[in-house]
Amino acid sequence: MTKFVYDFAEGDKDQKDLLGGKGANLAEMTNLGLPVPPGFTITTEACRAYLAGGHEPEGMAGEVTEHLTALEKTMGKQLGQADDPLLVSVRSGAKFSMPGMMETVLNVGLNDQSVHGLAHQAGDDRFAWDSYRRLVQMFGATVLGIEAEHFAEALDEAKRAKGTKNDLDLDASDLAKLVETFKGVVREHADRDFPQDPREQMDLAVRAVFDSWNSARAAIYRRQERIPADLGTAVSVCSMVFGNLGMDSGTGVAFTRDPASGARGVYGDYLQNAQGEDVVAGIRNTMALTELERIDRSSYDELMSIMATLEHHYRDLCDIEFTIERGKLWMLQTRVGKRTAAAAFTVAIQLVDEGLIDMDEALRRVTGAQLANLMFPRFDRDAAKELLTTGMNASPGAASGTAVFDSPTAVRRAKAGDKVILVRRETTPDDLDGMIAAQGVLTSRGGRTSHAAVVARGMGKTAVCGAEELEVDVRAKRLTLPDGREVVEGDLLSIDGTNGEVYLGEVPVVASPVMSYFSDGFGAPEDDDLVAAVDRIMRHADDGRRLRVRVNADTGEDCATARTFGAEGVGLCRTEHMFLGERRSLVEALVLAETREEREESLAALLPLQIEDFTAIFRAMAGLPVTIRLLDPPLHEFLPDYTDLSVEVAVARERGEVTQEQEDLLVAVRRLHEQNPMLGLRGVRLGIAVPGLFAMQVRAITRAAATLVAEGVEVRPEIMVPLVGTVQELQAVAAEIAQVVAEPESQVGGEPVHHQIGTMIELPRAALVAAQIAEVAQFFSFGTNDLTQTTWGFSRDDVESSFFSNYLDSGIFGVSPFESLDTEGVGELVEIASWRGREVRHDLKLGICGEHGGDPDSVHFFHRAGLDYVSCSPFRIPVARLEAGRAPL
Ligand code: ADP
Ligand code: MG
Ligand code: MG
Repeated sequence: MTKFVYDFAEGDKDQKDLLGGKGANLAEMTNLGLPVPPGFTITTEACRAYLAGGHEPEGMAGEVTEHLTALEKTMGKQLGQADDPLLVSVRSGAKFSMPGMMETVLNVGLNDQSVHGLAHQAGDDRFAWDSYRRLVQMFGATVLGIEAEHFAEALDEAKRAKGTKNDLDLDASDLAKLVETFKGVVREHADRDFPQDPREQMDLAVRAVFDSWNSARAAIYRRQERIPADLGTAVSVCSMVFGNLGMDSGTGVAFTRDPASGARGVYGDYLQNAQGEDVVAGIRNTMALTELERIDRSSYDELMSIMATLEHHYRDLCDIEFTIERGKLWMLQTRVGKRTAAAAFTVAIQLVDEGLIDMDEALRRVTGAQLANLMFPRFDRDAAKELLTTGMNASPGAASGTAVFDSPTAVRRAKAGDKVILVRRETTPDDLDGMIAAQGVLTSRGGRTSHAAVVARGMGKTAVCGAEELEVDVRAKRLTLPDGREVVEGDLLSIDGTNGEVYLGEVPVVASPVMSYFSDGFGAPEDDDLVAAVDRIMRHADDGRRLRVRVNADTGEDCATARTFGAEGVGLCRTEHMFLGERRSLVEALVLAETREEREESLAALLPLQIEDFTAIFRAMAGLPVTIRLLDPPLHEFLPDYTDLSVEVAVARERGEVTQEQEDLLVAVRRLHEQNPMLGLRGVRLGIAVPGLFAMQVRAITRAAATLVAEGVEVRPEIMVPLVGTVQELQAVAAEIAQVVAEPESQVGGEPVHHQIGTMIELPRAALVAAQIAEVAQFFSFGTNDLTQTTWGFSRDDVESSFFSNYLDSGIFGVSPFESLDTEGVGELVEIASWRGREVRHDLKLGICGEHGGDPDSVHFFHRAGLDYVSCSPFRIPVARLEAGRAPL
């Protein structure tokens, strides 16, 4: 029979699938002998069964009873027992941490009787009533689905009646009254009484946690973080410990090192006389964890020692939640902590230097996405700017935009194309879509561990938190500074998440240090820990990777840039860009040519220009392979738009001013007009239809190469024929190439210049008949953009703006197949073609030149598929190198 419930002592940290992250790590800490309040975890499997069937799975209730009874025995008291109640928290915990996205209910087991028992046992009436009012409030909001506002208003009213703003000023009798009011709120809005039966409270809370997996905000978060929607959450039932038992009690959160920079030290927030959520919600201002040393030396020392134990055990930066109950420390949660991109690199290297992990592990712990993040620009230090205030540097980056004060407005304005900065006193999980829409987030309350900070870091979004000088008035859509300055909705703001500074207006940006490191050709870093860490990890990635990384570049200049970024050749040089601009008229003449002479004249005019193009590229890439794709797009792309021209000619005719040239052009444009140009006269089809075109390009390539070789430059041209569907096409072009290569100007010392002939694989048919094609082709380059279009049968230009967002929202696509390779479909074709091609030609060179060459997941796939290289745009090269190094691990 399936086991649905595990005691904390039964699990370990590797059981996140089953016990959720929280449950697995509570188990791990329990088994490490750390002070964890006893409890048990109901599995994600139970949750999945519940969500699928609409009720708890058979056997679960019995197991819960068994574990509860055992817990009661350990604790020496029963759940909700009138004279001395056992209280528990019912906590959500999914495999991947989803901070604040799902529900937790504290103090379960309190009722009208046991509240007195608790008061008596603790010798503290106020504490007991405070705990009870929290239970009714949390239970009402999360389990019974009552608007949290109703409770918040009643609480505000109680404080107002007392003439205070601080909930600590409410005494036992105020809180007892508040409990009555809260129970009235429950009756009014949930149509039932607050349940007095402790077990019913617990069972309903468990069910509410299960249900919270499918809450709207959890679903949004999962989509953003690409977390699968069908995992479900585990539920941990944990005996309560109390941070609200007076000033010698409290609750806190901490990181074992700075999650923003990776620096070692004591990072955390602590709040005296408080329970659970109070710290994270930023409700009261917290104190820095370092102050705990002064308040409670022995708990502080124990905490430091536990944190050291955890770092050594997890061999990584951890974050923790803890509570101190009358001087006794309890651990309530730990996990490998979320961190910024910069901290990911610096922490990994620190851990290597501390001997906790090796370089392979360090490389595993950073990602291409994080590296890309570090290459973003920063604010220009030297630019004139008006500092408004400084807050906590919660999540790095440089963001500018118009200030907005609520999430719906952020979403609306972002949809309209505005860049916005979301300004809040503090954020809640309801602000999630606003945070996603914004360039950055600014809050006036809460620290480095507040909701805004944690979520922003997870999303890689810039955030400044706890800018306490700011008076944020969300209703009036305005923030005010002590000196009277004001920012209203629509004003421009800039926030620097790296140092916490907030500026008025838009501040110009400059290259980041990591970007400078790459563009300077990996200058040896000296005083910058981050750049030094990136440097060491990049070198390790380069040492270990099999995949070469080439660039998609069309000019000598781009090639030179790419070389400094580490490009090992050109994987795709598109020649169509060379046919634009002032050369367009030459192309037009070529298309309109009616006789062979006319055609050859325009080709002859294009030849020297193309020679120049290729010379520049070969020179920049001396010693490295350069793959040049012969002209690919349909010719009409170089001519005027059919509709525009028809109108122009019609008007001219009307006026009797039409010229023969205009008429001829219209005829040609009409002749070349296609319904589906993507599937039309393009690629190799064009080369065959327009005699001399490909020959001219090949002539330019080989003559440029011959001249450079004569100068002593090493040149390695690879001539690539696009859109081949059958080997006969390639044979026809290869014959044409052979003739050109035999021309004296294409040779050096009576020998043809060294070159290769290959093809793109971008049609499913080509992938399937790869064995035949490989008889002629010396290399394949997978054009995964077109291959994705032709495999799926949709046109990228059309579908991305029409139904894709719908597909992504409804989960039909986890991610766009143009962004990350569809490994099951398109990837299968890549593997088939590689396999069949290499059977015929064992040294067949294989590469990929679609956008996917710079996508981390896709790079890992290409490694597994046995490709020789990936090719991507110049700025993606470092990312591709890093991921190519991670792929074999
Ligand atoms: P989240 O996943 O949102 O952090 P948690 O389940 O960790 O939710 O709980 C919310 C808050 O309540 C945390 O601050 C946690 O430390 C606190 N908490 C949870 N269980 C207990 C308990 N048994 N005793 C005291 N505090 C608890
Ligand atoms: Mg927690
Ligand atoms: Mg293509």
